[in-house]
Parts: sequence; structure tokens; C-alpha cells
Amino acid sequence: MAQRSVTGVFRGDGFHWVGDGFHVTQVIPGPAGLQERISPFLLMDYHAPYVYEPTEVPRGVGVHPHRGFETVTLAFEGSVAHHDSTGAGGVINPGDVQWMKAASGILHKEYHEKNWASKGGRFHMMQLWVNLPAKNKMDEPAYQPLLASDMGVVDLDKAKVTIIAGEYRGVKGPAKTHSPINLWRVEMRAGGEMEMDFPASENASIFVMEGSVAANGTHVDEHSLLLFNNDGEDIKVTSSEGAHFAVLQGKPLDEPIVSHGPFVMNTEEEIRLAYRDFLGGKFGHLE
Ligand code: MN
Repeated sequence: MAQRSVTGVFRGDGFHWVGDGFHVTQVIPGPAGLQERISPFLLMDYHAPYVYEPTEVPRGVGVHPHRGFETVTLAFEGSVAHHDSTGAGGVINPGDVQWMKAASGILHKEYHEKNWASKGGRFHMMQLWVNLPAKNKMDEPAYQPLLASDMGVVDLDKAKVTIIAGEYRGVKGPAKTHSPINLWRVEMRAGGEMEMDFPASENASIFVMEGSVAANGTHVDEHSLLLFNNDGEDIKVTSSEGAHFAVLQGKPLDEPIVSHGPFVMNTEEEIRLAYRDFLGGKFGHLE
């Protein structure tokens, strides 16, 4: 099989605050055209390690709506509390993932967990928006709390692969997805290497949280996303210094993306309807 070539390496345009609790760089959608090439992923807000002072009033982002996709939150360090208008909620601790299907509409709020906030410390996380196929955009909302202990794990010689969604070397991740997706987290020690392959017609990328890697010969620094071309199957990642990175891979949805604020639909009319429904109280209620 052929080795995939590299489209390029992309970084967010600096860091900004989401509410007062999430200091993030937005890596996806990135430059024009990238979003289609990384489908079904729509957005990545990456919160690099950042130290918060103790506070009795937890930082975070208040009540806001979503429709038409899933929000996937990966906690690496620190604890996030979440509540939504379906009555669901929970706490995401290091290694846990919250996979929230907003679908037809949800209100939610995301905060540093109260106990954690009162002590403060290093906080490190990522939020992805994963698009839903048109046929699932108006499904009922749902919530998958995926605990660190639920994840699939493959131990390589000098790397640990944690499978959140999809499958690597016969080991499956716990997330239920609506289109074929692989979402893995890799902790690689110095001198480690990892091989993987995906159908050439499907999209593939890696994002380096910490350390650096070489992927099919291209160097990738921390906080950077490397996108592969759809011209081959094989990917080889090595790291001379060690690295913590994510693999984001999936079958493109090949449906129109019409995105406005917290809503991602297929047509302008569906966006207008989303605002009408939200303002009309059809997303439920959350204090
Ligand atoms: Mn949100």
C-alpha cells in the first residue's frame, strides 16, 4: 500500500478565552477548505496546559445552545463539570471523554468542577465538534460519558494508544458514532514509533498536544495539526523526544456544511429554523 503524503501543518491563530474558564486556540476549521478535508470533524478548540489560581466561583462558560452535531470533550488534566437541558450532567476527569450528541437541540453549560476549582492547578483539555449526517441532525439529544477505564488500550513497544472511538489492531473504543470515525490518543516515549493505515478515500490527521513527532517524514511541533492527503493509506509516526498526540480520522460526510454560531446544519433555511426554535424555547430550559 502507498504512504500518504502531507497536505500541510496548521496552527490556531493565537489563544482566546471561551467564557472565563477555557483558554483555547482554535485549530479547526482553520484556513478555507480545511474543514471539508477533515470532515466529519468541524472544530477543535485546544486548551493547552494552563495554571488556574484557586477560586470559590468556578470558571467556565454559561448556558448556550447547540444543534446539528456532537461536542466531544477530552480532559487531560483538571476536571470539567457539565449540565444540560435534558437533565444530564457529570464530571469529566483526566482521561475521561464526554461525547454529547446535541442533535435536534440542547442547552448546556461547562464549568471547572467546584472542588477542583477551589484548589486550582494545571488544566489541559480539548473540545471537538463532530458533524452529524443530515439524517441524524434532528435526532433526540443524547450523552455518552466515557470513563478513562472504558477506553480501548493498545500497548506498543514505546507507545500507549488509547482508543476513544474506532478500532486499532483489533481493539475498539467505547464511543458510538454516526459515521465511521477513529479518535485515538497516543502517549509516545522517546524513540517510539507507530504505524497505521486508513482507506485513501477517508480523511486523516494528527494533532500534537505535547512534544513533537515526525509523520511520514514531516516534523510536527506541539499545538500543531498535520493533515494527510487522500493519496495513500499508510502513516508512520515517530518521535525522537517523546510526544502526546491525537489521531483524528474519518469518512467524509460529503454533505453541505452551513454553520452559524452554535448551529451546524445543511441549509440556510435550517439555520433560520434553529434560531427560531431556540428563541421560541424549544431547546428546553437550563438555569
Ligand atoms: Mn458548548
